[in-house]
Amino acid sequence: MADASWGNCKNCRFFAGNSDEPSDEAVQGCNQSELKKFALVVSGDSGCNAFEAQAGESVPIREEPAPMH
Ligand code: SF4
Repeated sequence: MADASWGNCKNCRFFAGNSDEPSDEAVQGCNQSELKKFALVVSGDSGCNAFEAQAGESVPIREEPAPMH
């Protein structure tokens, strides 16, 4: 099961692209503060659990359904 905070680089605010809609094949650096030191180069369809949604972008987060009584 995927971690709730996991997301794709192309939708992540740390993805160092200058495009509003990077493609899966777009390759950019990662500017996440903890990961930056590794000078990661990631593609749009990569991702990690340090993902943070781009400002102004709403990424649906799945929630457990409420238990039925
Ligand atoms: S590696 Fe993680 S933090 Fe970096 S751009 Fe991709 S999802 Fe965001």
